[in-house]
Amino acid sequence: MGQKRKKILLLGGTSEASQLVHCLQNNDSIEVIFSLAGVTKNPVLPRNVISRVGGFGGVTGLIMWLKNNQIDFLIDATHPFALQMTNNAWKAAKICGIPFLNLQRPAWQKRDGDHWYEVNSIPEAVKVLGHRTLRVFLTIGRKDILLFKENIIQHHYWIRSVDKPDDMVLPSHAEVITARGPFDVQSEYDFLKQYHIECIVTKNSGGQTVYAKIDAARKLSIPVIMIQRPVMPQLPSVSTMDKAYQWLMSHLQG
Ligand code: NAP
Repeated sequence: MGQKRKKILLLGGTSEASQLVHCLQNNDSIEVIFSLAGVTKNPVLPRNVISRVGGFGGVTGLIMWLKNNQIDFLIDATHPFALQMTNNAWKAAKICGIPFLNLQRPAWQKRDGDHWYEVNSIPEAVKVLGHRTLRVFLTIGRKDILLFKENIIQHHYWIRSVDKPDDMVLPSHAEVITARGPFDVQSEYDFLKQYHIECIVTKNSGGQTVYAKIDAARKLSIPVIMIQRPVMPQLPSVSTMDKAYQWLMSHLQG
């Protein structure tokens, strides 16, 4: 009789998660369940693995889910700003005694020629943006736009997100651009120039897919309000998809 296949819960939401699932999907000794929060309307779901969409119901819900589905390994490859999910996953894995790994790509580092204002939160970014009327490129996702509407109304915003934000959260002077990365430097440069953008507000997501705007901003000497990542708990973590793959393979062989 063959060995029982090991079950892996992979929490997705990043390009690294999608790459990892792609590497794992033809491995006969494992079964991957790929999980998304359900934040985007048309998520790209991997083929050949089981997918599920939606929250688990906090730590307690996740513990139940891990037990009911007899999960052997938990890999958290959510976005560096998805603090709650990472915390929940780490706690639930510990309680269930399941090997856990967090896959988190490195943050972007400031380079010569960058004009960054590094802040620790969205409210701080709002404060730094100030009250002088500016043409602002806002790429922070849909969730936190409301704070800009509530606090500083005079700016003209270009807001880019995968799905269109609710009209309710949009500042009065806002153009919405729905697009999914990757973006290239030339088109980001052309966009910033065409609309005379004077400031970019973004999260330090890391990775290559949305980095082109930072290169373009440097070329045009446009200041960037860079929202730093939330502080994660101390947890087992790797920074690349390859390392996550190796971690899993070594556990499977061990
Ligand atoms: P969050 O605040 O840490 O998570 C909120 C809740 O969403 C979690 O407690 C969990 O609900 C559910 N959730 C999050 N990721 C999930 C997953 N992969 N599978 C199932 N449920 C999940 O995270 P967030 O900032 O809302 O981000 C949500 C998702 O979008 C994440 O998967 C993240 O990778 C992705 N994303 C986030 C950003 C960002 O800037 N925050 C950017 C790009 C992509 P329960 O407590 O009910 O389990």
